[in-house]
Amino acid sequence: MSAAETKTTPLIALHDLRKSYGGHDGAPAVEVLRGITLELHAGEFVAIVGSSGSGKSTLMHLLGCLDRPTGGRYLFAGQDVAGMDADALARLRREAFGFVFQGYHLISTESAQENVEMPAIYAGAAPAERAARARALLTRLGLGDRLGHRPHQLSGGQQQRVSIARALMNGGRIVLADEPTGALDSRSGEEVMALLDEMAAAGHTVILITHDREVAQRARRVIEIRDGCIVSDSGRAPVAAPPEPLPLPSPATTADAADTPRALLSELHEALRAAWRVMWIHRFRTGLTLLGIVIGVASVIVMLAVGTGSQEAVMKQISLFGADKMYVAAIPDSARGRGGKLTLADVDTIRRLPNVRVAMPYIEGFVVARRGNVDHRTEGGGATTDFEQALKWPTARGIFFDESDEQSLAKVAVIGERVQAALFADGTNPVGQRILLDNVPFDVLGVLAAKGAGGGQASEDERVIVPFSTAAARLYGSNHPTWVAVAVHDVDKASETAAEIVEVLAAQRHVRDVQVFNQTESIKARAQTQRTMTVMLGLIAAVSLVVGGIGVMNVMLMTVRERTREIGIRMATGARQRDILRQFLVEAVLVTVTGGVAGVVGGLLVGAALIVWSVPVIFSLTAIAGAFGCAVLTGLVFGFMPARKAAALDPVAALSSE
Ligand code: ADP
Ligand code: MG
Repeated sequence: MSAAETKTTPLIALHDLRKSYGGHDGAPAVEVLRGITLELHAGEFVAIVGSSGSGKSTLMHLLGCLDRPTGGRYLFAGQDVAGMDADALARLRREAFGFVFQGYHLISTESAQENVEMPAIYAGAAPAERAARARALLTRLGLGDRLGHRPHQLSGGQQQRVSIARALMNGGRIVLADEPTGALDSRSGEEVMALLDEMAAAGHTVILITHDREVAQRARRVIEIRDGCIVSDSGRAPVAAPPEPLPLPSPATTADAADTPRALLSELHEALRAAWRVMWIHRFRTGLTLLGIVIGVASVIVMLAVGTGSQEAVMKQISLFGADKMYVAAIPDSARGRGGKLTLADVDTIRRLPNVRVAMPYIEGFVVARRGNVDHRTEGGGATTDFEQALKWPTARGIFFDESDEQSLAKVAVIGERVQAALFADGTNPVGQRILLDNVPFDVLGVLAAKGAGGGQASEDERVIVPFSTAAARLYGSNHPTWVAVAVHDVDKASETAAEIVEVLAAQRHVRDVQVFNQTESIKARAQTQRTMTVMLGLIAAVSLVVGGIGVMNVMLMTVRERTREIGIRMATGARQRDILRQFLVEAVLVTVTGGVAGVVGGLLVGAALIVWSVPVIFSLTAIAGAFGCAVLTGLVFGFMPARKAAALDPVAALSSE
């Protein structure tokens, strides 16, 4: 830009600029600026002076593109500002203006250096470069030893110097200072004025706004306004050797440096750091809000793990004790007194059915077992060598009797765990010992594997098994099986096989007295209930996740309200709407990611505790990833509204909020 051009094209040209407030929602319209016409040139040091309420700050907001006029024209370097969108205005603020406010307007959660760096972040400067520049500026302003201090740890004068450094960060071609000394004692005020002098001498365009005539006299040109009109203007000061004015960026033409991927990455990194800072400062409140997400995620993980675990336990039970198992018994017809007794011929008939793998007759009745002087009443039973196959019940110690014992009516027995405990409390190995069953001597061949509690009542382990033939001849005096245990080949056809058994026995026995107790159905029903339970638990957990998400939205809305002024400051230093949107989204996501991680850890810990209490628990990676993903998604979804609200704020309105 040549010297001739600077003369012809003023940096700032206002034509009949007007601004009114109100006029809607019942508020009376007040015209605060009533036709300001003014030309300011690059490199000028201008003071705008006027009493309180005369419209100085309003004018400054318009000059700094923080607000739009309601009438008249504003040409910046020959370009009409009215034609620029919000992003272009943000860019202009970032690259051309630096603001110094009476109330400093520093972000309280950030250090001095971070406050100074902010305009450069939005301009897309490299981190090392902007840190070096911020340190250099602060050092030059005498704050080299206060870089890491937060605003509340600095005096008023120091804070104002930080804000001047911030105004200079992106070049500070035009410094707009609104009552910069207003809140300062005279010595600090003098220091700030000396700095403004220095800047003007270095070629910065300085626009100083003050109500104090004495302060205004420091400028080379004084413009007085009263009731929204210019009442006097000392005119452009003739300068002996005008310094070279700082080059101005041309917003409409050059590509925006803030849009390169590297700049975006660096901005996201900054947003993350700032979000972490805010979260840490409000850690108690954030923690409470997070509780919802933490509980949500943890309960999804734990409930699904418990659900899957107990489902698995049922499946294991099915494979252990056999879903393929059923019991056949004859129930006597009490009215006619017929039937009620199964025979070994019936067992043979059942065994010949195609889907039947094993059919084992079983005869049972109480016996008194005795060893030495210990009497123990227990469930006695006669079974065949198919016992283990039919009931999936192995012998843990010793052996089971074999075919020859069966044929020879051998007096041998296999005892249950409880019987062993009662008769061999002295620790003797029962195998090979002799016991009496209803006064008949038997040799113990083996001990059955412990089975634990049975169908709710007595323990299954309260049992003594002898060969069927022996039981019939020596113990019960009858060879009618009490029931027949049946195992099938194809579990899916178990119900059909059960019906078939009923039919063939009815035909053979000429009486319909046989009933089949089919475990398959009940186990299937249990598995089904279990699945329903898992789904229910999952749903409850999901609801708590949503509640957690609403908590996040709540805290984000609160954050936006609390930090409206910070949003204004960020906008004044050049943040675009999308930068603010990103900042708050990053915060919401960070909050939920933290909650999600805590939830996953909590869920795993609770699950581990349950395992210690021997509750069946199976963690599923899908459930963990799903719960975590949902949490983050909730953060995004519920954080979006508050973030958009923040981004849509008007810079001036945001700045002036308390
Ligand atoms: P100064 O900075 O010169 O003291 P301002 O520019 O802040 O004056 O305000 C000028 C006038 O505009 C005051 O009368 C004030 O009440 C009014 N004003 C400023 N901002 C608003 C607003 N947002 N809504 C309504 N009136 C406003
Ligand atoms: Mg003011």
